[in-house]
Amino acid sequence: MNAGGGTSERPLRAAVVGSGPAGFYAAAALLASEDPRVEVDMIERLPTPWGLVRLGVAPDHPNLKAVSRAYERIAKQPGFRFLGNVQVGDVLQHADLVRLYDAVVYAFGAETDRRLGIPGEDLPGSWAATEFVAWYNAHPDFQHLSFDLSGERALVIGNGNVALDVARMLALTREEIAPTDATDAAIEAICGSGLREIVVAGRRGPVQASWTAPELQEMGELAGADIIVDPAELELEPASEAELAQAGPIVRRNIEVLREFATREPAGKPRRIVLRFRMSPVAILGEGRVEAVELVRNELVADERGRVRAEPTEAREVIPCSLVFRSIGYRGVGLPGVPFDAETGTIPNRGGRAHDGDGEAIPGVYCAGWIKRGPTGVIGTNKKDATETVELLLEDARAGRLPNTSAPPESVLALLEERGVEVVAYGGWEAIDALERTRGEPHERPRIKLCSWDELLSAARG
Ligand code: NAP
Repeated sequence: MNAGGGTSERPLRAAVVGSGPAGFYAAAALLASEDPRVEVDMIERLPTPWGLVRLGVAPDHPNLKAVSRAYERIAKQPGFRFLGNVQVGDVLQHADLVRLYDAVVYAFGAETDRRLGIPGEDLPGSWAATEFVAWYNAHPDFQHLSFDLSGERALVIGNGNVALDVARMLALTREEIAPTDATDAAIEAICGSGLREIVVAGRRGPVQASWTAPELQEMGELAGADIIVDPAELELEPASEAELAQAGPIVRRNIEVLREFATREPAGKPRRIVLRFRMSPVAILGEGRVEAVELVRNELVADERGRVRAEPTEAREVIPCSLVFRSIGYRGVGLPGVPFDAETGTIPNRGGRAHDGDGEAIPGVYCAGWIKRGPTGVIGTNKKDATETVELLLEDARAGRLPNTSAPPESVLALLEERGVEVVAYGGWEAIDALERTRGEPHERPRIKLCSWDELLSAARG
């Protein structure tokens, strides 16, 4: 088979943009193809690969991060190149990619956060959870942030796994956080924090919470924080009862875990994590910085399709707090020249084939992961997702539907050199990785991450 249905025997050349789980699973599926054979350039904005596995997964979850070993094996396969420190949409454009490659797979995730759209959202002390996550995980673009953890109470808005990560990270003891790869600044800030209570508030009820059971269970196993759930908040209205009756094992397990939490007497640990339900923030209050959040009590009703919705009541509650973490989901950002659905924050697509405004497939352009389906699912969800995309890509290649425009492998490097870009190849990342691990060893930490662009680039050179 020849690339793109042309006549040469050369392998097909694909660019995968983004090096998180979706990017790596797409690369693996491409490299596994024998007909056509495929070479992959993985193009990444940062000098480091793995996306949210490095920069999103909580530092106290090393088992989740271990998936990166599988990505290392993919990166070692013949035909794979890593082009780090290359921002598509900046130094390299979509138009360049379609000129240089037979196929492009966009797998750059969902870069920003969703907004609440309420007064006070931008007061100092009100943060997107994603900012805090990027900060404690050493993302080089977020190290200038400074989180004032001196107040007594923080409010985390949202009932997803990121909300649990943030609440848990804020409550870790020194013994729990010191052996992790969180940044030293984050470790010191969290250990020295004045926080006594972290409230996690969901707009719907316990049945509708989107966290997963092991993550919820873990909230009850913290050394330095009691978990508090008011049994009255677990009483289910008819709509939730009906949903629970139809629910899968995760939701049923969540309810069991919450009911067990609700029976507990606080052990008097230094901090408390309080899980609250059926309340939506309507304003973040404060003179010059966050002092409280006003929330409205919701009642839950099923709509005509049976989906349980939050309806505001007249009842309001003001929770004094000095910090707010808005953890209501990530949001994808568009790329110049590539169709984008601002409503869903995704590239319009069918099964991963990108399509234009008329619903026509754009030859050679694909997407995978969060930019394809939205910011949902766990790491493994991306394997099926990316494999589906690549199957369509290979089908198109075999049917001669790719534009067959690929330039030789050197072309992209020459173009980047011409544009003054210092590409970090996989060897550069390996140098960063080795240095970080070496720094961690004496402290029995998996790694001490490099936090700045300068440090990362100079380690990559060395
Ligand atoms: P998520 O699971 O979609 O949760 C978002 C939460 O925000 C939901 O509770 C949602 O409530 C709520 N929300 C949305 N808009 C709101 C609004 N205007 N006001 C109040 N609440 C609002 O998203 P996530 O926590 O960011 O996680 C993203 C993905 O990463 C998820 O698939 C998650 O499982 C995954 N993840 C996994 C792990 C892990 O496995 N350990 C860790 C972190 C993240 P509604 O349901 O009412 O919309």
